[in-house]
Amino acid sequence: MTCCPRAAAEPRPAIVAASRRRGWIVQRQNAKVVSARVQISRSLPSSHPQPMLRVHEMTGLRTYLLSLLFLVPALLVGHSGVGLAHDYAIEVSGVETEPPVAPTGSVLFENVRIFDGKASTLSPASNVLVNGNLIERISTAPIEAAGAKVIAGGGRVLMPGLIDAHWHAMLIASTPAEAMGDIGFANLAAGDEATHTLMRGFTTVRDVGGPVFGLKRAIDSGIVVGPRIYPSGAMITVTSGHGDFRQFSDLPRTIGGPFTPMERNGGSIVVDSPDEVRLRVREQFMQGAAHVKLTAGGGVSSPFSPLDVTTFTEPEMRAAVEIAENWGTYVIAHAFTTDAIKMAIAAGVKCIEHGFLMDEETAKLIAEKDIWLSLQPLPEMMRLGLREGSVERAKAEEVWPGIGRTYELAKKYKIKTAWGTDVLFSRDLARQQGAILASLIRWYTPAEALVMATGTNAELLTLSGKRNPYPGKLGVVEEGALADLLLVDGNPLEDLQLVAKPETSFLVIMKDGRIFKDTLPN
Ligand SMILES: [Zn+2]
Repeated sequence: MTCCPRAAAEPRPAIVAASRRRGWIVQRQNAKVVSARVQISRSLPSSHPQPMLRVHEMTGLRTYLLSLLFLVPALLVGHSGVGLAHDYAIEVSGVETEPPVAPTGSVLFENVRIFDGKASTLSPASNVLVNGNLIERISTAPIEAAGAKVIAGGGRVLMPGLIDAHWHAMLIASTPAEAMGDIGFANLAAGDEATHTLMRGFTTVRDVGGPVFGLKRAIDSGIVVGPRIYPSGAMITVTSGHGDFRQFSDLPRTIGGPFTPMERNGGSIVVDSPDEVRLRVREQFMQGAAHVKLTAGGGVSSPFSPLDVTTFTEPEMRAAVEIAENWGTYVIAHAFTTDAIKMAIAAGVKCIEHGFLMDEETAKLIAEKDIWLSLQPLPEMMRLGLREGSVERAKAEEVWPGIGRTYELAKKYKIKTAWGTDVLFSRDLARQQGAILASLIRWYTPAEALVMATGTNAELLTLSGKRNPYPGKLGVVEEGALADLLLVDGNPLEDLQLVAKPETSFLVIMKDGRIFKDTLPN
């Protein structure tokens, strides 16, 4: 009778995603039923958390009896047509998963000075009440909140969680070969890295290429601890474009032919006509993309895409923009050169990634057209990590001098500038995520850099419109905003280096109203 105490010990039913097929699934092991499920409705999107009841280690007879108890009403509801919009599943299983803990109750931050994600100064000593996943009240007067968990800020700084606008959650803790060839490992490694990302104070990332939908779902359903993810899914590239990591032995490609592992896993996918663009872009949206990424010109890390080449044609890019607009969202383009940037803008792309080889006239155009420029202060460590004598290193030597120049142009023409890191295939570099933000001090004041990594980046995220996976205000500390908050030991508006030392600087990390780190001395 091991079942009852264990079942009773579970405070709430685990929530897992159920398959969308109607009917029973029963699994046996040596005649003992280890898993039995029934599902009764088809009306929920697969991204929605599904309620599930589960009991452990029951005998076959007990399993069936319990299951029948739920089966009859379940089928009645399923056939009634009134449609409870849920898939109810009963599972008997030896596997335990942590249920996502919905933020309940409230948290009161007392005596904090607020950096709100917009202003360059701190507020006077204030109190901030978080209720559920929202910031409910901010006041310099005491806030009464019976039953709230109180965090005594002691005059420390409360600020919005950081946002990285150019991240590849699936392509950091794996090698390129693992990302292409062992998606199981890649997912697990990315889940672990996602936890580190959140612990560095990054509560949101805009993911700009990689098979990230499963990771996002695992984080959102509480199985894995990590940041909010705005996914683009597979990078859309053309034959020999940036992101085409195939070998010559994979050629020739025929349209409709078999996929390479890179494409099957959803890391990047090759298109060579407007029709193929439409198909692949729609596939990303079907899986939950918040925006779509095209690689409009050559890139450093892909050996067969010279930097000067404009890889897409304008009709191809326009096809992606048309589909994205049909879905109420936008297209971003990896582009270094003036030609690639101009074509992307002409096609309707709303955000240029990198742009490090642009000329001044193009900077003016970006400003005039109100296009976003997503820049990354790429560290030297990244350039030096490329093998000397390699094609990639030669391309890096060409790109790196453009970084500072492009930041100067962005400032000169007051271009809407987002900040990101573009860390790839290196956990050592990922650990520098905050340091890469702090390196903006070369061009910006600490306040300007922090506004960029919070309020401004959040503004860019709103371009996802109806495809925004987390509707609500991010990147700011204000009433009604989503409660993604950091309590900082020290004043980051005076010392930007604090964000480079998250272990000691960030005493409390809250995402969506839940506390994931609290090292405040009691
Ligand atoms: Zn990138």
